Amino acid sequence: MGYRFLKLASSSFKTGSVRIGIRHYSSTHDADLVVIGSGPGGYVAAIKAAQLGLKTVSVEKDPSLGGTCLNVGCIPSKALLHNSHLYHQAKHDFKNRGIEVSNVSYDFKAMMAYKEKAVKGLTGGIAMLFQKNKVQLVRGVGTIVAPNKVEVNGEKGTETINTKNILIATGSEVTPFPGVTFDEKQIITSTGALSLTEVPKKMLVIGAGVIGLELGSVYQRLGADVTAIEFLDSIGGIGIDAEVSKSLQKILAKQGMKFKLGTKVLGVRKEGGGVKVDVEAAKGGNKEVMDCDVVLISIGRRPYTKGLGLEKVGIALDDRGRVPVNNHFQTTVPGIYAIGDVIHGPMLAHKAEDEGIVCVEGIKGMPVHFNYDAIPSVIYTHPEVGWVGKTEEDLKKEGKAYKVGKFPFLANSRAKTNDETDGFVKVLADKATDVILGTHIIGPGAGELINEAVLAQEYGAAAEDVARVCHAHPTCAEALREANLAAYIGKPINF
Ligand SMILES: Cc1cc2nc3c(=O)[nH]c(=O)nc-3n(C[C@H](O)[C@H](O)[C@H](O)COP(=O)(O)OP(=O)(O)OC[C@H]3O[C@@H](n4cnc5c(N)ncnc54)[C@H](O)[C@@H]3O)c2cc1C
Repeated sequence: MGYRFLKLASSSFKTGSVRIGIRHYSSTHDADLVVIGSGPGGYVAAIKAAQLGLKTVSVEKDPSLGGTCLNVGCIPSKALLHNSHLYHQAKHDFKNRGIEVSNVSYDFKAMMAYKEKAVKGLTGGIAMLFQKNKVQLVRGVGTIVAPNKVEVNGEKGTETINTKNILIATGSEVTPFPGVTFDEKQIITSTGALSLTEVPKKMLVIGAGVIGLELGSVYQRLGADVTAIEFLDSIGGIGIDAEVSKSLQKILAKQGMKFKLGTKVLGVRKEGGGVKVDVEAAKGGNKEVMDCDVVLISIGRRPYTKGLGLEKVGIALDDRGRVPVNNHFQTTVPGIYAIGDVIHGPMLAHKAEDEGIVCVEGIKGMPVHFNYDAIPSVIYTHPEVGWVGKTEEDLKKEGKAYKVGKFPFLANSRAKTNDETDGFVKVLADKATDVILGTHIIGPGAGELINEAVLAQEYGAAAEDVARVCHAHPTCAEALREANLAAYIGKPINF
């Protein structure tokens, strides 16, 4: 398309009628690319675009850069998961390892302050990266008023940006629960769960997907009595292998988390200082009222397009509220692109980032390739769960002939030495060609280990390829190698 090859305009931004001191300050910028939203999709795309020589403007409505991931998602949740795990380990596990610590306790306020520090450090880092890469930041709500024009309404009034291209990276928001008002104190979303002022005694988590399990784990480790209520008969959300899901449930139950599966939530109400949750069996019948101090509702997220003005430029959303794009991330309007949570695919930060990079490379005329079969998913519980590619259920549904290689961490020397033996690695490979179709890990450091499996899958490796690669000893990654050996030849060495 012609607009991809347009020569860059002048090297500095043009600023028009600036009337300082007057509320309706207005200015005009010219850009090659305006990225709306500075989450992991948007900020990474903006930096990449600037590095490729595009005059890039990032528009962000929130005071803090980094979107959901850095402010109320990946980063704060991982800070709380890490530190609650350290506390739990110090309290319940150190003694077995010959480490004596007396009076192990936590200071919840300090734990929250630590989380805030992690968030501030990283969000502040984006501003510095913008400066370093010459990405211009314009603060305010971005509205697309024409295919080549974005208006930004912020504290300074309205600013107008004339641009050759627009990238929508406006992300997602919490899916509301019909009839329920969140007060973010007792009836909370994941955002509220990241900012509670005390640990509840009794917590119900509606939705045993990734976010529910992670945040439920945080509070369970800190002493809350946590029950996860789930409509489905399994935990871990979309895409998890059923065998891994069962194993995760068993391990988390051993840690003290309770599960009420196959259960439908009918309503949530405040009563007598607490919260009551009305439930019934998903298949009908058996109504029950459950009590708690705090209920976390984590039933998913939905694309966020409020105030974007898509209707003005003729972009219609799909049936799930997503911005439709082709495999070059182009919307139906030439010059307008979209990536991240606001489009199809899993709502994950690394997926948004990678889409952002290839999308702007496409704008520069470079090849666009994105392999949705090689996006890893991780649940940061303890132990972690990581997977990539097909599950056994997928392969059965597709009628694909496959072989399974499994290796338990119980037989891995590093896991045994560290007394972290819960879990296993499972590799699914094509029966005829040995090409890896999926890898599923539950066990120590699964979130790191899965990246090796992603690399293998992205490069179309066979199980034999991974099995023949020398792995450092003693490491948990050797379990991944052994599972590939088991898939390839049927026999691991150490089990
Ligand atoms: C509790 C929790 C934990 C999570 N943990 C993980 C994890 O461990 N790993 C993982 O991969 N993913 C995780 N996620 C998901 C991850 O946060 C999202 O997939 C990711 O943030 C999506 O990135 P994005 O750039 O598409 O959108 P977002 O991060 O949602 O960013 C969109 C940005 O656009 C801005 N914006 C929206 N509309 C406008 C407008 N009109 N004008 C200006 N600005 C606008 C918003 O203010 C926001 O800053 C988690 C999510 C939650 C809620």
